[in-house]
Amino acid sequence: MTITYEYGGSLYVNVTNRCDCACTFCLRKNHSGGIYTDNLWLSREPSREEILEDILRRDLSRYEQLVFCGYGEPTYRLDDILWVCARIKERQPLTIRMDTNGHARLILGRDVVPELPGKIDVLSVSLNASTPERYLERTCPSFGPAAWEAMLAFSSAAVKAGIRVILTVVDLPLSAEEIEACRKLAEHMGAELRVRQYIE
Ligand code: SF4
Repeated sequence: MTITYEYGGSLYVNVTNRCDCACTFCLRKNHSGGIYTDNLWLSREPSREEILEDILRRDLSRYEQLVFCGYGEPTYRLDDILWVCARIKERQPLTIRMDTNGHARLILGRDVVPELPGKIDVLSVSLNASTPERYLERTCPSFGPAAWEAMLAFSSAAVKAGIRVILTVVDLPLSAEEIEACRKLAEHMGAELRVRQYIE
């Protein structure tokens, strides 16, 4: 079972395979187990203690960031992630990022942003489109249109809470105009935009 793996100078933490979306470009749909390491499908979700133990087995001074991502949506495990973050921060001044679809309020039934400062330094949030219609087409969230509003509200509140927020879009099939519209939306919110390359 792969809990942690190295990629691009960071240490990634795979905490869950659950997700409320079915994005058209999702690696889980198009690959058998991930391209970053052997297999990111989990036979079961690791406990918070197992996650911490796996991380602490590494020399954390070697990494730029610790990234909670999951081959799925990590906020299904948010309580466990924040528990782990608190213990990492006690030991190491390491930047911690979480990659999320921003639907935590719908998944967990509460506004989680006030819980993040001091534990999560950077949020990478999947924006994926500049309009709710395109967003729903590309990400197919089980929560329906509420997912678009939840993602924007989460990102905006995180910016206001002082967290560095990077909104991301996958570049295929997105026009230059659509990417520009996403950039304006991110700038309006006080966030950054990162255009991710589509992986065949
Ligand atoms: S939110 Fe992420 S894990 Fe979930 S379907 Fe979309 S790309 Fe895949």
